[in-house]
Amino acid sequence: MTSYQVLARRWRPQRFEDLVGQEVVVRTLRNALASRQIAHAYLFSGLRGVGKTTVARLLAKALNCDKGPTPEPCGECIPCQEIALGSSMDVLEMDAASNRGIDDVRELREVARVLPVRDRYRVFIVDEAHQLTKDAFGALLKILEEPPAHVVFILASTEKDKFPATILSRCLQIDFRPIPTELVVARLAQIAEKEGFQLTAGAAQLVARATEGSLRDALSLLDRVRAFAEGAVDENAVAEVLGLPPFETVLAIWKALEGGDVAAALRVVRTEEQAGREPAALYEQLVQLLHALLLLANDSSAPVPFPAGHRAALQASAAKLGSPLLVRLLALALEGKNLVASAERPGVAVAVAVGRLTLWPRLQRVEALLAGEPPLPTPAVSAPTDTAVPESGGGPATPTARLVEALEAMGAHLLAGRVRSVRAVSITGETLVLHCGGLPPTARKSLREAVEQLSAAARQAGLPGDVRVDEDRPAAEKQEQGLRARVETDEGVRRVLEVFGGRLDSVEEKP
Ligand SMILES: [Zn+2]
Repeated sequence: MTSYQVLARRWRPQRFEDLVGQEVVVRTLRNALASRQIAHAYLFSGLRGVGKTTVARLLAKALNCDKGPTPEPCGECIPCQEIALGSSMDVLEMDAASNRGIDDVRELREVARVLPVRDRYRVFIVDEAHQLTKDAFGALLKILEEPPAHVVFILASTEKDKFPATILSRCLQIDFRPIPTELVVARLAQIAEKEGFQLTAGAAQLVARATEGSLRDALSLLDRVRAFAEGAVDENAVAEVLGLPPFETVLAIWKALEGGDVAAALRVVRTEEQAGREPAALYEQLVQLLHALLLLANDSSAPVPFPAGHRAALQASAAKLGSPLLVRLLALALEGKNLVASAERPGVAVAVAVGRLTLWPRLQRVEALLAGEPPLPTPAVSAPTDTAVPESGGGPATPTARLVEALEAMGAHLLAGRVRSVRAVSITGETLVLHCGGLPPTARKSLREAVEQLSAAARQAGLPGDVRVDEDRPAAEKQEQGLRARVETDEGVRRVLEVFGGRLDSVEEKP
């Protein structure tokens, strides 16, 4: 029977150039080694699993290699090989989480005084060094105040802010960054290939995202999924091990959401709960999907943690909704995340959050109204002012439609949109009047400033070329006072304003 060596150990980098995502760290150390500027104490800080102890061992090799100190340890000599195996007498690794008492440090001080057994340096690698006691830090400080020439300490820690300032000031501090998702994905793919098993691109994305920049965690998750999947590792195998819903379920809830079908969306939530899975996990996957759609809306080749077979459908969805709406949906979804996280009954919270998201077509209309934009897709047709000639039902022959069409033909789409939102367009003798009362000031201003262009378009459309922008709103103004008071005290309106952080701009009565 052969014993299985976990991937993280098996693929632990043995050379600086094999290290993933820590270029700054590697370059700093190599430069220091090349110029023989060797510190007595290093503090490696950063998240777990980003390569701190791996680099500590590489540094120990670089210091004690037969050819060293060198930026390129050979990996072949006895010191290099022993350090790789963790059996060197001169490179001692200790874990402060378990050896944190004063005795260990006292012992350490004695060992530090003794010359190296064989190699150039005595290297002490102290993992989780922030967990040392106050006394232990005191003893360490004493060594660092007058360090023996042959001693190098490498302190590794996930919590740099827990170190006493006196220790920090005596260390060369090196910060390790989280490894970018794409680099983790690439490394996973490379390892899978060398190990000879199949790993889909979406599955690699899922693993990398779930482990948030920790390569070690990513590899141990991959170990688990591989053991579970017995063969090819795909999205659903990763989802199963992580307790996430299968992709089909995420897709089902997305379809319901896209179609504004609240009942269908809630059905999916209920089915998940009945299947014994965490509704919060489903919600998290929905957030991930929205994020993926936003990425796809802006870059159709963006990598996403979903099966390649569904890519085209997701791309189409992203293109249909567009970035502005997806940004708003994602913002709304993230708000829901807090709600879900703090809820006593996550199932209910997820139902509320999903329900709210599914109502997006309605919310979008309200939002557009609040922003003073012409509501989409149907333009608002308000009661014409006293002087305006009423337009009959928005048919193609109305002055508005003709003007809009001419503007579109000229490529003035923005202006065409503004004309669509005016209250009415009327013909008074030889003058074309745009009744703009009720439009936001910015919209009125841009119409005023575009009179020449409007005039050209009007002539093009066979309308009077003398264009006037009328900003009065006699009837509407009076109406608005009463309306505004009514609207301002309305509970529903107040809620909508609260959700979107909006304010009441103008109030109009619809016929
Ligand atoms: Zn060597």
